Amino acid sequence: MNERWIAERMSRIDASGIRKAFEMARSMRNPVDLSIGMPYFDVDDAIKDAACEAIREGRNQYSVTMGLPELRAAIAATIARYGHADRDVMVTSGTAGALMLALAATVNPGDEVIVLDPYFVMYQHQTTLAGGVTVPVDTYPDFRIDVARIAAAITPRTKVVIVNSPNNPSGVVASAEELKALALLCKERGILLVSDEVYGSLCYDAEFHSPAEWNEDVLVVDGYSKAFGMTGWRLGFAHGPARIIQEMAKLQQFTFVCAPTPLQTGVARAIAGGTLGFAEQKAAYRRKRDLVVEALDGLYELARPDGAFYAFPKAPRGTASEFCAEAIGRELLIIPGNIFSRRDTHFRISYATSDETLKRGLDILRDLAGKA
Ligand code: PLP
Repeated sequence: MNERWIAERMSRIDASGIRKAFEMARSMRNPVDLSIGMPYFDVDDAIKDAACEAIREGRNQYSVTMGLPELRAAIAATIARYGHADRDVMVTSGTAGALMLALAATVNPGDEVIVLDPYFVMYQHQTTLAGGVTVPVDTYPDFRIDVARIAAAITPRTKVVIVNSPNNPSGVVASAEELKALALLCKERGILLVSDEVYGSLCYDAEFHSPAEWNEDVLVVDGYSKAFGMTGWRLGFAHGPARIIQEMAKLQQFTFVCAPTPLQTGVARAIAGGTLGFAEQKAAYRRKRDLVVEALDGLYELARPDGAFYAFPKAPRGTASEFCAEAIGRELLIIPGNIFSRRDTHFRISYATSDETLKRGLDILRDLAGKA
C-alpha cells in the first residue's frame, strides 16, 4: 500500500486519544464502565413496531433527500413556536450527519469556528475536514457561556460559533440569559450560530432553551439518538435558514443520499400515534444524576450537571490522564478531559448505566478521592 494514497487532511484528524481509551478498556477483565455516551434505555416498543411494519410494508427504498414529508412536518410542528418564516427542516443521518453537512456547506478553508472548551470531539474534526480551524474558548471552571470571552475570540475570519446545551462532556445546561446573549452577539457580528441540541430533551432542573428563540438565523442540529435511545438508527435533523438547508440538502444528495427510510417512517408514525412517553426514563436519569452529585459532593470539584447524562468533575490530583490511569488500575473506566479539551484537568463520567454499575463506580471514585 502506498502511503501517498492517504489524503494529507487525514493526518490532521487525530483519533489517538479516544483509541487509547478504548484499548485500555479492552485490557480490563471486568470494567466498571462509566465511559459510554449511549442511552441506557432501549427504543420504545411503539417505535420498534412502527419501523418493523414499515420494513414489512416495503418502505425500504430511498426517501426524498430532505426526508419523509410526514417526519419533516412533525419536526416543523415542534419548532413552529419560534415563528421564523424562513426556517426550513431536513432529516439527516444523525446529528453528526447534520453537523457535517452544516460545516461543509458554510466553512471555507481558513475560516475560524469558535467552540466552547470543553467541546464534543466531532466539532474539531469536522471543522478540519471542511478546511476550517477551531478556536477554543475556555469555559472553565463553571462551564457557563461568557459572551465577553467569545466576543474577544472573534476575528475577521470567524464564520461559525458552535454551542451545545445540555453539554457533552460537562452536563451543564445554559440558561436563557446566556443563550440570548450569545444569540444576539452572533446576530450583531454576522456570525452563524450552530446549536447542537441533541440532549435537549434531557434537562432535569431548568427548562431547555434554544438560541433560535432570539436569532432567526440560528442553525440547529438535533437528532433522536439520545432522546429515543437509538444511536444506531442514525436519525437526525437540522433546521435553519432555508438557503443553508438547501445547500446542506444538495450535499446530502451526493453523500448520504437520505436517512434510513423505514426508520424515518417508524419514528414519524410513532410520533403521530402520540403514545411516546419519556417521563419514566427522564426520572431515572435524574435519579442517577442525583446519585453522582451526592456521592462526589465535598470530594470533587463539580459543576452541577443539569442535563444530558454526563458529569465532569475535576481530578483531585495530578492530570486527569494520570487520574484516569489510576482509576483504570481499579477497573474503573472514565474519560480524561483532554479528549474534549485543551486542558487535562477534569474527567467525564457517563451515568447512562445501571444503578449497580454506577454505584460501584462511584464507590471507587470516593475511595480514590480519599487517597493522598
Ligand atoms: N452532538 C453531541 C454533543 C453528542 O454528544 C453526540 C453523540 O454523542 C452527537 C452530537 C452525535 O449524535 P448522533 O448520534 O445523533 O449523530
